[in-house]
Amino acid sequence: MKYDYLIVGAGLFGAVFTHEAVKRGRTCLVVDRRGHIAGNCYTQNMDGIHVHQYGAHIFHTSDKNIWEYINQFADFNNFVNAPIAVYRDELYNLPFNMNTFSKIWNIKTPAEARAIIEKQRAEANIINPRNLEEQALALVGRDIYEKLIKGYTEKQWGMDCKELPAFIIKRVPLRFTYDNNYFNDTYQGIPIGGYTAMFEKMLEGADVRLNTDYRDFAERGSDTAGKILYTGAIDEFFQ
Ligand SMILES: Cc1cc2nc3c(=O)[nH]c(=O)nc-3n(C[C@H](O)[C@H](O)[C@H](O)COP(=O)(O)OP(=O)(O)OC[C@H]3O[C@@H](n4cnc5c(N)ncnc54)[C@H](O)[C@@H]3O)c2cc1C
Repeated sequence: MKYDYLIVGAGLFGAVFTHEAVKRGRTCLVVDRRGHIAGNCYTQNMDGIHVHQYGAHIFHTSDKNIWEYINQFADFNNFVNAPIAVYRDELYNLPFNMNTFSKIWNIKTPAEARAIIEKQRAEANIINPRNLEEQALALVGRDIYEKLIKGYTEKQWGMDCKELPAFIIKRVPLRFTYDNNYFNDTYQGIPIGGYTAMFEKMLEGADVRLNTDYRDFAERGSDTAGKILYTGAIDEFFQ
């Protein structure tokens, strides 16, 4: 059988495309080299808990159409992402907001927080930052840099902040309200039945082959479909 579309990747992009194509009467073959659908959003049900295998995924958007679109495939819970950072056994709210500043400096008002940050920026006295550390000190002062930026950044990049270029951080978002919500979007949540069940619905009407890499597939049968939608890494596609 020749399909209208060969869709490489059963992640969010591939699944939305497949749903729209099937809705328009097109035949679709979806392949993914992983042993499951849902791409990086994949959730596995372990003892009744939806474990997000590739890292926690919170669906968020301010676009009402997108929110209504995704809600046709799943009901969402009211999860609000309010992360907490641990620094030397102390807990701090992220993104940096008045709850964070209050904990660090034992203060209450935005004016007090702004004054401390300005004082520490002035003390740093950095006009032309030569590296990421100097850039961060110039932007937010020593306390926030040392407690909340330094360790996180060095772990992420595997390098000392003094060896990283300054341009990596242009600004550090600071919130002067008591709001721990990580996202600024109007709508956010996690599908109640897990992401994988949501993707099953999105892929209804298409043939799905797992553990199938496009590379092997392309060699074996290039005339499988009229068109190919490739959602993997583009550098890999061009080798
Ligand atoms: C840890 C983490 C946390 C995240 N948290 C959030 C969040 O909270 N909110 C949010 O909006 N976004 C989040 N994201 C981003 C989100 O995961 C992506 O934007 C989204 O999954 C992208 O969908 P996609 O379909 O483009 O790619 P993917 O989900 O990566 O799907 C691509 C699929 O293509 C397959 N593939 C690739 N190459 C081939 C090939 N040659 N042959 C066959 N199959 C192939 C892969 O196996 C994969 O399953 C997070 C990402 C990560 C990594």
